[in-house]
Amino acid sequence: MELKGKTAIVTGSNSGIGLGVATELARAGADIVLNSFTERDEDHKLADDLAREHGVEARYIKADLSKGDEARALIERAGRCDILMNNAGIQHVAGIEDFPTEKWDAIIAIMLSSAFHTMAVAVPMMREAGWGRIINLASAHGLRASPYKSAYVAAKHGVVGLTKVVALETAEDPITANAICPGYVMTPLVESQIPDTMEKYGMDRDTAIKEVILARQPSKDFATVEQIGGVAAFLCSDAAQQITGTTLSVDGGWTAR
Ligand code: NAD
Repeated sequence: MELKGKTAIVTGSNSGIGLGVATELARAGADIVLNSFTERDEDHKLADDLAREHGVEARYIKADLSKGDEARALIERAGRCDILMNNAGIQHVAGIEDFPTEKWDAIIAIMLSSAFHTMAVAVPMMREAGWGRIINLASAHGLRASPYKSAYVAAKHGVVGLTKVVALETAEDPITANAICPGYVMTPLVESQIPDTMEKYGMDRDTAIKEVILARQPSKDFATVEQIGGVAAFLCSDAAQQITGTTLSVDGGWTAR
């Protein structure tokens, strides 16, 4: 696939799924804007490495997406946005009666409101360019609920709804808007939870993964960040021009139940 000449902005992309998607889009030839809320040498080095390895232009732009004006400024500073992936996210787990208000506000701001702000600036740019792809990284939790994840499930359901609205508003433009809904994806964060789970349940690694972490994922296997990147690249292809306003589950059968 040829994404040469396109600029892809991936929010929350100095680790995990965002970095995996940025890497696959760079492999397909897109220029890349990486983002997170930090400003470290290693953040800029990630962009330099992508540029060198894939022969594309790559930059890192700091923006704290809990703030609407910074989310808008990210797209404005990039100057061009052909592909927008809203991916930044955080999690907090607590019962509704104990859920801290500041965590609720942060989760809704970073995962839902930031997508509203970035799309509001990016859609006119895409219309002007005559081509655009919006890919919102939702979750199986955008389609199903789990207890103790009120803010996360609400934000991800909100992202799915927001994606549908933007798809309808851009339906007659050469722009598509879709949500990818992964189950569990192997990232450093998930890897770091495995030793604790083994200790808590007195299980070996394989049993802890299959019976606890992947209890709801029928495939009993993680998706990889490369696979999520491959799905994002497919959504950028000509074959996907008429795919808009929908969700693509990458969840090993979770939502088939
Ligand atoms: P991660 O922690 O590796 O990545 C999250 C990214 O968001 C990081 O780059 C982080 O710096 C960034 N971020 C956090 N707060 C931010 C802020 N205020 N401003 C800007 N950036 C900020 O985790 P991940 O697993 O790669 O998650 C990426 C997305 O995928 C999230 O939206 C998450 O909900 C979703 N997701 C993950 C899984 C999984 O199993 N890993 C499954 C389904 C959905």
